[in-house]
Amino acid sequence: MPRRIQRVWLVLAIFLPCLHRFATGGFAFTSSTVPWRADRARLTLPLRAGKDDIVVRLPDEGIPEGVRKLRPGPEGPPSGPAEVDKVNVGCLPTSSELSDRLLSEYMLGSNQILPLRGILGGSAYSKTLRKQVRQNGKSNGSVLIFGEQGTKKDMLAFLIHYSRAKGSLYFVDCGGVSVKGARIFGRARSSGLLDLASEGTVVFNDVDKLNKALLPRVLQLAVNGTYWSKAQQKEKQSKLKVILTAEQWSSVLQLLPKNKVVQIKVPALRVRRSDISSMVQYELRRLTRGTGRPIPEIQPEALKRLQAYDFPNNVEELFFLIDNAYRNMEPGGSITADLLWTAQSVQKLDLFKVNLLEVYPGLRRFLQSDWLERLNHGFTKYAFPVFVILLFIGPQTFSQNFGLNLFWAWWWPGILLTYPILGRFWCAVCPFMIYGEVVQRWRVGQGAVLQKWPTKQLEAYGPWFLYLLFLAILLWEELWVLENTAYLSSWLLLLITFGAIVGSWFYERRVWCRYLCPIGGMNGLYALLALTELRSQQGECKASCDTFHCYKGGPAEGEGQETNGCPLYSHPASLKDNKNCVLCFTCLRACPHRTVQVNLRAPGIDFGFPFLFPIPGTSSARQHESSAPELALLFLLLGAVFCHHLQDLVVQAGAPDTLLDDFAVHSALAAAALLGPGIFVWMMDRLARGLSALFYPEQKVLNDFLDLGYAYLPLTWLASLAHYLKLGLVDAGQVLPTAARTASFFVAGLAEWAPWAPGTSFAQEQLKFLEEALPHGSAPPDVVAFLQGVVLLLAATFALLKLGKLGGRAPFAWIHQAVILLLTYELWQLIL
Ligand code: SF4
Ligand code: SF4
Ligand code: SF4
Repeated sequence: MPRRIQRVWLVLAIFLPCLHRFATGGFAFTSSTVPWRADRARLTLPLRAGKDDIVVRLPDEGIPEGVRKLRPGPEGPPSGPAEVDKVNVGCLPTSSELSDRLLSEYMLGSNQILPLRGILGGSAYSKTLRKQVRQNGKSNGSVLIFGEQGTKKDMLAFLIHYSRAKGSLYFVDCGGVSVKGARIFGRARSSGLLDLASEGTVVFNDVDKLNKALLPRVLQLAVNGTYWSKAQQKEKQSKLKVILTAEQWSSVLQLLPKNKVVQIKVPALRVRRSDISSMVQYELRRLTRGTGRPIPEIQPEALKRLQAYDFPNNVEELFFLIDNAYRNMEPGGSITADLLWTAQSVQKLDLFKVNLLEVYPGLRRFLQSDWLERLNHGFTKYAFPVFVILLFIGPQTFSQNFGLNLFWAWWWPGILLTYPILGRFWCAVCPFMIYGEVVQRWRVGQGAVLQKWPTKQLEAYGPWFLYLLFLAILLWEELWVLENTAYLSSWLLLLITFGAIVGSWFYERRVWCRYLCPIGGMNGLYALLALTELRSQQGECKASCDTFHCYKGGPAEGEGQETNGCPLYSHPASLKDNKNCVLCFTCLRACPHRTVQVNLRAPGIDFGFPFLFPIPGTSSARQHESSAPELALLFLLLGAVFCHHLQDLVVQAGAPDTLLDDFAVHSALAAAALLGPGIFVWMMDRLARGLSALFYPEQKVLNDFLDLGYAYLPLTWLASLAHYLKLGLVDAGQVLPTAARTASFFVAGLAEWAPWAPGTSFAQEQLKFLEEALPHGSAPPDVVAFLQGVVLLLAATFALLKLGKLGGRAPFAWIHQAVILLLTYELWQLIL
């Protein structure tokens, strides 16, 4: 067929359906070559249908795939024949359809801007914002709304539009506007948004992201309401209300005349923290609406965490956190602090973290195995009662009882040494809680439904209960000489085991360990200094997980094993410090996505900086949340070191040591030694603040004592270690002969009770021999004193370094430095 006839057929094939389309719609090219003209946005075919050219609109990104063999014209846009290959254009719209389509592209319906949360809260900031919205809703003037990322500036713009209730709302995302802005300002023979939109509001969102060539045109529109219409080739007046939003307060925006463009500054969430509570309540109501579920309660600790957080992404981040916590929450539960995954903001310090599970893949396999279950329920469960009975019925003095030696000379120094390496790991192998678990498993096996934790009450009173219990135990230890009275030491163990059993009898998981156990409180405090941590990658948890088995527990899934979830109700993605992680690795076993990490880290970064090995420029936002009862516990533990040397203190004060023979005086002095250091430090802090206010009223005062007080943590830990070093270096080496003496005690008892029993005297002789022969050893006093001295010097050094980071350079911070040196000097006198 001649080529010309072919073309006729082609044109007919294309344009007959096209003409038909004006009645019915539906149009397609078939594969062939057609003459055409094109500019960037449309392909014009050389026929006229009705009044309009027949135009195939091209997408902004260029020529559709179906059009090939483009040839650039001599100048400007391509022209000449092109091969058109099944370009399915659906329909060729009329001008009015095109206008509608363009408008609807920018028009926002109410369903698109839901959830429109409004301005929540009763702070002065939110009241001002509400007033500004009302005022600007009444006028036609332009508005510039600026504020940090996530402050919901767009929502404010919508509120202004809706309070105005006039015309439609058009939303232009400035980051996506093309260089020429043809869709906004139009192009030759083609109207843009501003030409077509007759009345309403146009929001230029993120105007600071608009390309520089277009910005003056948008600003002109905002200031004068005029713009250059390219389609009509004239300056036009727009009836639209213009609202600009911006994150960056650029120099160009600063030049906008305030009488023409009202400026609204949206405050960051961190400066209107009092609004957070209302926002949370609102969001929880919104999430539960229509679900038939009750509105969950938010625990005070959780609210405190939110109010302490800086929200780099502002309101948007808050709502995300609440939505995520709601998804994570157990049905019928409440929002706890562990469900709020505030971003871990120690990015600089993350550089110093090494995931040990990646470095040693064998470690992952080991930790995922059932080694802990075997150790706890295969060995310790049976060994612990033997130990307790030994203390009860064995010899009662330290030098005779093997159990007492283990408890005071091995366990105490040993646990103090594990803190800097493994944090709260003792709690993973603790025999007290093993019995709590035994009881709980039995109860659940009997069909009992355990209660949820009364988190609100526990958070309010638990830490103080723990503190008072520890105070009572320390007084008991001093007044009844527990160290040298085996059955009382045994009662102490039973007391803590009893607490663990009662907690586990009534409540699910390990409520005793999380809130009430005095040893757990101490472990949690010292674990802040640890070199290791367990965390999970927040980003991956958010992106890849919808089961949260680490937290909730659940069946096996992928690599994850069946577990009951974290025994402390901690979520590894939300852990901000080591306080509430007992390193039981349940989450590691439960996680199907391998996101749990065991990190080696710089010590002290729970406080936002590595204080043991100060690295310049690594100060960051603190993760740990200070609390008054925890700080009180810290100073109580410092007081305990002084209390252990009460007699020396009395002698040092020039009083006769017989003073302590009087029980009442002894009690009073013991209480004074326990509480004295804390009270002294607090009074010195008040003095420093008072002097600072008096002499330097204009200058920065010291950080809050609740934060600053943690500078004394290394001092407390290392002073305790220095005290127990003597037991560890001198008495621990006597454990085997002491074991022989304990055995002799029982054999002697047997000989007395059953003199007819054969072999008792032989056994006594052999044990006597063993007592001498068994290996034993004690470090010489000089070595012990040297090591204690080194530990105390380190204590002072680390405390001063930490104080430097926490206390800044405020005037009279030196008073705290002097107090640290004074306390160290006194400890030196007492311990060495
Ligand atoms: S918190 Fe107390 S009872 Fe619980 S595991 Fe730790 S030491 Fe044992
Ligand atoms: S740690 Fe694992 S189980 Fe837990 S939320 Fe993250 S991905 Fe899910
Ligand atoms: S389950 Fe994980 S987060 Fe919870 S205590 Fe154990 S190790 Fe820590």
